[in-house]
Amino acid sequence: MEVAMTNLEAVKREALLQEAEVLENEPMNRHTSFKIGGKSDLFISPAGVQAIEPIIRACRKFEVPYFILGNGSNILMSDSGFRGAIISFNSNISKISVNDDVITCEAGAKLVTVCMAAQKCCLKGLEFAYGIPGTMGGAVYMNAGAYGGEMKDVVTNSDYIDLSGRQTVNGSQHDFSYRHSLYSSSDKIITSVTLKLFQGSSKAISDKMNELMQKRKDRQPLEYPSAGSVFKRPEGHYAGTLIDNCCLKGTKIGGAMVSEKHAGFIINTGNATCDDVLKLIDLIKNSVFTQTGILLESEIKIVG
Ligand SMILES: Cc1cc2nc3c(=O)[nH]c(=O)nc-3n(C[C@H](O)[C@H](O)[C@H](O)COP(=O)(O)OP(=O)(O)OC[C@H]3O[C@@H](n4cnc5c(N)ncnc54)[C@H](O)[C@@H]3O)c2cc1C
Repeated sequence: MEVAMTNLEAVKREALLQEAEVLENEPMNRHTSFKIGGKSDLFISPAGVQAIEPIIRACRKFEVPYFILGNGSNILMSDSGFRGAIISFNSNISKISVNDDVITCEAGAKLVTVCMAAQKCCLKGLEFAYGIPGTMGGAVYMNAGAYGGEMKDVVTNSDYIDLSGRQTVNGSQHDFSYRHSLYSSSDKIITSVTLKLFQGSSKAISDKMNELMQKRKDRQPLEYPSAGSVFKRPEGHYAGTLIDNCCLKGTKIGGAMVSEKHAGFIINTGNATCDDVLKLIDLIKNSVFTQTGILLESEIKIVG
């Protein structure tokens, strides 16, 4: 639905007052790892964590829909883009501090950067996340995980803002489960995350990080734009194996293709649209369901 120009202008004014960078009609394929997506009316990069609350308040006051974007690595953005404001958590919201074995970081900090900071301080426990191309906020929202670890294992508390202001969530209140957290089904905006790690050997930590990165390079089609694994792991199975067993590797609709290297990934071979990816997702789900009786569920977020 179109958003009134005057309302967009009012949000833009508030964002500029807060010293945010504001782009208009910004192509979202520049901001998603899939390199897919039409234009967003406003693309706002807040200057710091303190600017988020007033910008969100303005969006609510002027009824401008908004979407919080981390690194855009788990997003399939519509070809018609987003009517409203994308609020980007980028390097302006990425401070990291280390205190003994505790790391606190703002939500826009990249996982890879936090992993490197941990390694530098001889802190182990976060190696699993090295190579997940998201921000700390996106990773907590999704309870991202890999190679036997997940955010649930290391997050002790997180701060967020919502209608009632700033709040903190502790331990089990996060309600973490497979690719889910308290945040997944809420409009809470994560502003910072605290992790508890363990003392370890710098070399052992970096060896582990390099080993896991190599596994990714060997097994995942990192040379193509994608949003990682498209489907959640069905209980007792791997989505990639089910898709492979249905002989779907290499299946192509428009520019979207089931990766030959890892059947759980849909890759953008150059000019894929959101529509191509959605049609391919449907085809995969139907084939897998018909042949195995298992219904795959999307892990990626469809936006716009
Ligand atoms: C090549 C590749 C490999 C991948 N490997 C893995 C893997 O091994 N394991 C895994 O779990 N995932 C993997 N992913 C998926 C993705 O990287 C993760 O889900 C990541 O955690 C998403 O973080 P993001 O910052 O990119 O979030 P985005 O994609 O920008 O957003 C994801 C969701 O989080 C919400 N969100 C983001 N930031 C905030 C915030 N501050 N407050 C509230 N909500 C927020 C967004 O609104 C959105 O709903 C992979 C992706 C790619 C492209």
